[in-house]
Amino acid sequence: MKKESRAINSPYQRRDVYDALQMPVYHTLAYEFDDADTMADAFCGRSDAPDYSRVLNPTVTHFEQRVREITDAYEVSAFSSGMAAISAMLFSTASAGKNIVSSRHLFGNTFLLLTQTLKRFGVEARLCDLTDIEDVKANIDSDTCCIFLESVTNPQMEVADVRLLSGVAKEHGIPLIADTTVVPFTQFDGRETGLDFQVVSTTKYVSGGATSLGGIIIDYGNFPAVSQLIKKDSVFNFGGYMTPHAAYMQTLGLETLKVRYDRQSGSALEIARRLVSTPGVVKVGYPGLEDNPWHETFKSLYGDQGGAMVTFDLPDAECCRRFINALRMVHRATNLFDNRSLAIHPASTIFGPLSPETRQYMDIADTTIRLSIGLEDPGDIYDDLRQAIEKAVEPLNPVC
Ligand code: PLP
Repeated sequence: MKKESRAINSPYQRRDVYDALQMPVYHTLAYEFDDADTMADAFCGRSDAPDYSRVLNPTVTHFEQRVREITDAYEVSAFSSGMAAISAMLFSTASAGKNIVSSRHLFGNTFLLLTQTLKRFGVEARLCDLTDIEDVKANIDSDTCCIFLESVTNPQMEVADVRLLSGVAKEHGIPLIADTTVVPFTQFDGRETGLDFQVVSTTKYVSGGATSLGGIIIDYGNFPAVSQLIKKDSVFNFGGYMTPHAAYMQTLGLETLKVRYDRQSGSALEIARRLVSTPGVVKVGYPGLEDNPWHETFKSLYGDQGGAMVTFDLPDAECCRRFINALRMVHRATNLFDNRSLAIHPASTIFGPLSPETRQYMDIADTTIRLSIGLEDPGDIYDDLRQAIEKAVEPLNPVC
């Protein structure tokens, strides 16, 4: 079956007493056992029967299995947020004295996790240019425990060549881990592109229009010691497991993921093309545009559709402020891949608490607006953007 069919039709392991067609939400914390031996077997991992919903819940297991069927992964683990999945992943891979080779272009909390939180536990973040293989090689040594990247960085929209990075990771016997939140796993084969682990904020594309927070680790089974730590150490000891209600919402989201991605990518491409020739727009960042510097790399890794995230630059920060204030339909909100179109000025919001020097180091420009293109009519979305851009740049072009 194709991925979109698997996303809808994977049956759940055991039918419930009513033969429910949709996996029920098992809002239970504990599970009752018939006797002492089956209870001991469940607690000691000798059976797959759930014992306590911080570590195992049938609704969450069903969601994990669906993702596993779509991705053909060895194991999928679901967490309460994307950040919970990323931290579980990195705490399962790193230990004191080790270093992680990554990039300056990271989601804000991931950047802080690497440069502040993990640092307190004796782990060094080596931030280099992941699009320059020689720079990557120069940063790896015998204490490097993984290479970590984001498939498309946000908001810089940089696309590193995962296949090249995979070759380097293999040479050194270390895992290649990618945060692939921005390109859904229905669009590419993580194993084939050379990833050992994917971490995904399922809050975004998977949740089905911003219904719930969630995160997953997709594990291709190449590093058994790390796999063991994810399940037995991070899930059990950090307590960041997904809730059954979120798993239910996310399973529904999976069913429409491909359709939403197709629609949003089509609209995003149309809007990106129109923004290129809109007066006042200085530049547009979208990997689906043929003249984008990452277009070929993106296409070869993730296919023809460029996704729903588009960025564009206005002449200065004050124009960005006026643009955000002038929007009528597009929502002033963070998040990506909501059903509604969203706009945000990353420098003053997501990255606002960081110092100007740190923002500069991370290439977060004061002039950039990030859009998440929703399911509305693309013409309506563009019309709202255009009128807001006109208002934003008006004071720069006074009519005499
Ligand atoms: N990774 C990326 C690329 C993101 O954009 C986000 C956004 O929030 C996260 C991870 C964190 O996900 P969550 O908000 O689900 O913790």
